[in-house]
Amino acid sequence: MVTTSGLGKLYEKTVKERIEAVAGACNLPPGAVAELESSMDPAMAKILDLMVENVIGAFQIPLGVATNFVINGKERLVAMATEEPSVVAAASNAARMARSHGGFVADPVESLMIGQVQLVDVDDAGAAIATIKGNEKRIIDVANEQDPVLVKAGGGARRVDAFKVDTSVGAMVDVHVVIDCLDAMGANAVNTMAEKVAPLLCDITGGRPLLRIISNLAVHRVARARATFDKELLGGSEVVAAVIQAVEFANHDMYRAATHNKGIMNGASAVVRATGNDTRAVEAGAHAYAAWGHPYRPLTRFRVDPAGNLLGEIELPVAVGIVGGATKAHPMAQLCLRIMEIDGAQTLSQVVASVGLAQNVAALRALAAEGIQKGHMKLHARKLGR
Ligand code: NAD
Repeated sequence: MVTTSGLGKLYEKTVKERIEAVAGACNLPPGAVAELESSMDPAMAKILDLMVENVIGAFQIPLGVATNFVINGKERLVAMATEEPSVVAAASNAARMARSHGGFVADPVESLMIGQVQLVDVDDAGAAIATIKGNEKRIIDVANEQDPVLVKAGGGARRVDAFKVDTSVGAMVDVHVVIDCLDAMGANAVNTMAEKVAPLLCDITGGRPLLRIISNLAVHRVARARATFDKELLGGSEVVAAVIQAVEFANHDMYRAATHNKGIMNGASAVVRATGNDTRAVEAGAHAYAAWGHPYRPLTRFRVDPAGNLLGEIELPVAVGIVGGATKAHPMAQLCLRIMEIDGAQTLSQVVASVGLAQNVAALRALAAEGIQKGHMKLHARKLGR
C-alpha cells in the first residue's frame, strides 16, 4: 500500500532519487527498482527527463514496420509504434492488396491550424465581427511578430475569421486566427499567437478574451488518400460485397461508426506515435471531423469499380509535424522519420492517412470474411507462448 502520494518536490530530484522515493513509498522490491533503472540507458534518461515531469523510467512500446506501401508512386516502409497485436500485419496485408493497382494516392495537405480566441462580454457580436474583419491585417501582423522563425521559413498567420456563438450565458465571438505552421504540428506556435492577439481584439471590440488556444478540429489541414484494393486478394466478389454492406452499416449506425473509425486510428495513431507526434491531437481532430456538419460517420468511403475491385477513400485532419515537440527531441522519432523517408509535415500526413485507409480495409475484410478474432487470437497465442 502506498504510504503517501505527497512526495514533496519530486521534480527537483534526480531520476535515481525519484526511483528510490517511489520505491520507498510503494514498498517496491529491489527487483522492481532495478527494472525501472534499467528501462533506460543514461543518455536516454537525460532526454526523457527533459521531455516530461517526474520521470522514473521508460515504458517500451513495440515498434513495427509495415511493408508493401506505395504512396504517390514512392515505395515506403512505415514505422508503427503500437501495443496492439495484428495492426502492423494487417496494414502490410492491405497495402499488398493495393500495390498491384498503384498503391495509395494522397492529395496535397496544407499545414493550416486554427488559433481560437473566445471573446465574452461582447455588447454587439455582429459589430465586433465586422471590426475584427476590418482589422484583419493588424491582427495578422501582431500574430506574426511572435514567431519570426516561422515567418522567415514562409509560414505564419494567413487570415482571421470570426463567428457569433449563442450560449446560455450570452453571445460570444469565436475568433479564428488561421496560421500556416509549415513543418510544425503548431500547437505552441498557435497558442503563443492566440495569446498575443487577444489584447488587440479586446481593444478593438471591447470584448473580454477568455480562452486562447489551438483548435484540434483542424479542418484546414485535412489529408485525403485513396487506393484500389484487389478483388481477388481481398477474397473475391463476395467479400467485396460484404465490405460494402459493413460500411453501409457504419454509415447509418453510430455504434458501428465509432469502432470503424477506431480501426482507422489503430493505423494512423501508430504512425503518429512512432514519429513523436501528439496522438491525442490527431485523434480528437479525427473524431470531431467525423461529426463536422453532419451526424458522426465513418472517415472512409468505399465503392466497387467496374472490374469488381474495392475503391477506398479516406479524409481526416492530420495535424503532425517533423520539427518541434517530441519529434525533434526523441531519437526514435527521428529514426522513424528517416525509415519512412519523410521530408515534411505534408508527406507525413499523407502517410498517416494512407495507413489509416489500409488499416480500415484490413479490419473490414477480416470482419466481413472471417471475423476479427482469428488473426487476433493467432498473435495472442504467440504472445502467450502457445
Ligand atoms: P514547437 O514550438 O516545438 O516548434 C515549432 C516552431 O519551430 C515554430 O513555431 C517555428 O518557430 C520553428 N520552426 C523552425 N523551422 C520550422 C519549419 N520549417 N516549419 C515550422 N516551424 C518551424 O512545436 P509546435 O509544433 O508548435 O507544438 C507541438 C507540441 O505542442 C506537441 O508536442 C503537442 O503535444 C503540444 N501541444 C498540443 C496542444 C493541443 O494539441 N491542443 C496544446 C498544447 C501543446
